[in-house]
Amino acid sequence: MATRLTRLIRGWVSPAGQHSRQGGLDRWQSLSHPVPGHSTIDGLPVAVVAVRRRDDSGQLEVIRGYHPTPAWPGSVAPPGAQRHLVPASSFNPHPRREISIGDQRFGYNTVAGSACCNSCGKGGIGFGFVSADSSLPSAERSPAIHQILCELCAEKQAGVAVL
Ligand SMILES: [Zn+2]
Repeated sequence: MATRLTRLIRGWVSPAGQHSRQGGLDRWQSLSHPVPGHSTIDGLPVAVVAVRRRDDSGQLEVIRGYHPTPAWPGSVAPPGAQRHLVPASSFNPHPRREISIGDQRFGYNTVAGSACCNSCGKGGIGFGFVSADSSLPSAERSPAIHQILCELCAEKQAGVAVL
């Protein structure tokens, strides 16, 4: 009796895919959160915040300034903010986000469009954690091979490592 009721309630509550987003028309992908950093606009180094990216052209849409600020506390950019396009390769996140997994350090950065997460195999991630050259003096391990992890896998693995 009780189980039947539960099942019934679960049936009522079950949400039917409310967020069917329109896709396909716009090849720009919003970043899950704004990424503050530095880039070059009109030949000058400037502080910018990356908000969207394109896989096919390797471009980032950025807004001049910093994040978060009192004028822009959340993830949605203030209306009227002037946007610029820069090559993703010219963008350097700042301040740098670093995490440690085991004895390896990973820094958050842009990754090539063809790069995949070494853990889950997800491609087209745009941003990810890239293994930094280890500063350990004893480290003589394959400096040419950089490991790339998507944000989700990196945080999961770093979380496991901490425990
Ligand atoms: Zn992954």
